[in-house]
Amino acid sequence: MNGLVIEPSRMFQQLLSQMVTVSGANCFTASSGSEGINLAQQKVFDFIFIARHIDDIDSVDFIKKLRSMKRYKKTPIVMITSDSHKDNRDTLFRSGVTEILSKDNMEAVERGINNLINTAQQGISAKVLYIEDSKSIGQMTMGIMDNAGMDVDWFDNGEEAIEKFNNNDYDIVVTDIELAGKMTGFGVVSAVKNSEGLKKRIPVLAVSGSEDLVRRVELLKQGANDFITKPMQEDELIARMKNLITTKQLFDQVQEQQEKLYEMATRDSLTGCYNRHSLSEFAPKYLSEAYRFKTPLSLMVIDLDHFKLVNDTHGHAVGDIVLSKTGELLQSFCRSEDMVARFGGEEFVVLLGHCDLRNGKIKAEKFRNQLMALKPNGLVVTASIGLTTLPEEKIDFDNLFKMADDAVYEAKETGRNRVCVKTHGDELQCEDVA
Ligand code: GH3
Ligand code: MG
Ligand code: MG
Ligand code: MG
Repeated sequence: MNGLVIEPSRMFQQLLSQMVTVSGANCFTASSGSEGINLAQQKVFDFIFIARHIDDIDSVDFIKKLRSMKRYKKTPIVMITSDSHKDNRDTLFRSGVTEILSKDNMEAVERGINNLINTAQQGISAKVLYIEDSKSIGQMTMGIMDNAGMDVDWFDNGEEAIEKFNNNDYDIVVTDIELAGKMTGFGVVSAVKNSEGLKKRIPVLAVSGSEDLVRRVELLKQGANDFITKPMQEDELIARMKNLITTKQLFDQVQEQQEKLYEMATRDSLTGCYNRHSLSEFAPKYLSEAYRFKTPLSLMVIDLDHFKLVNDTHGHAVGDIVLSKTGELLQSFCRSEDMVARFGGEEFVVLLGHCDLRNGKIKAEKFRNQLMALKPNGLVVTASIGLTTLPEEKIDFDNLFKMADDAVYEAKETGRNRVCVKTHGDELQCEDVA
């Protein structure tokens, strides 16, 4: 974003320039009207500050001159004056001034600059894919979109445009119906709307002739989000594009929030593991899949040893670090077909998908060793692990869990830092792995 300051006083010029730069825009300065006009012709500025009195030209004439240039028709022009009460504000506004600020109130000037830059930044900084085979219409429309601050790629045919679309992120597609290649605007709409993943949501604005009523309806049916008729009015084009872009952005925001809420509802915030609620929701699905496809499924319950002592000795914050590092290790240790959950306090549960008892034992023992070697916050942490596997006859998750939990109890009873196994039918027998 570029701003121009036209101000004869060096000191004041520097002051304004500093305020603009601090607000995050580039600042160019001129000391006289002629210098200002030269700069304004060489570059496109997003906003202009001008002193009420400049040496070589009347500032009102200067502003009229700026407004007569196409590129400055809508640019904010702010006049900074030291004698605002003497001026006829109406005359100044009529000559094209957007805002008048007084040198006497520098705080208001600073606020004005910030507001100006903020609003200017809210202009549409969109990436546009534009498809139009007519050179003259294309050039005119490119000018409009460029003026509005958009970044546009222009093609005269759908084939090349769609290839570009597939490999780039656009905010909107604007397409004519008749195009240079074999593909028509209908083809473009259908290619966008049938594309992979999130890309199909990118809005398409179709450009049609005013006589094309039937085609317009057909375009909308195919998924075009809106259309505009030729000859295009600058304001209408920008307004329609802006609507489509902001709707899409809002939609994306809602989607993102929903995903965040889902994460929050299903995950434990300290460890990143699934929470107990998710476990009770997903576990029955793991069981029914395993029964249906006759695949093995094992369950591991992990309870940290003497964890209360960690809290009591090193404080709750260190206890939290131990829990979060344990959760991290467990998640990196497991595969995508496993489900890792924090069941409560210092207890974790892992559903090992496609894993029989033999492999479950190997895994549990491996994890027990990795945990001992982890040393979160320099502390040696151990766990008692109970392991079980899904029997051939049907049982539910609560019963499966009960077996692993009994095995944990046995591991605690027999010295901690070990893996115990309990399987269905072997009611009271615990097999010690370690
Ligand atoms: P055992 O070896 O028999 O399992 O002993 P233990 O001390 O690990 O078990 P106990 O159930 O007596 O204590 C668990 C402790 O875990 C008590 C509780 O304060 C602590 N705890 C539970 N949730 C959290 C948590 O989110 N953060 C921290 N820092 N501590 C927690
Ligand atoms: Mg055409
Ligand atoms: Mg416990
Ligand atoms: Mg414990």
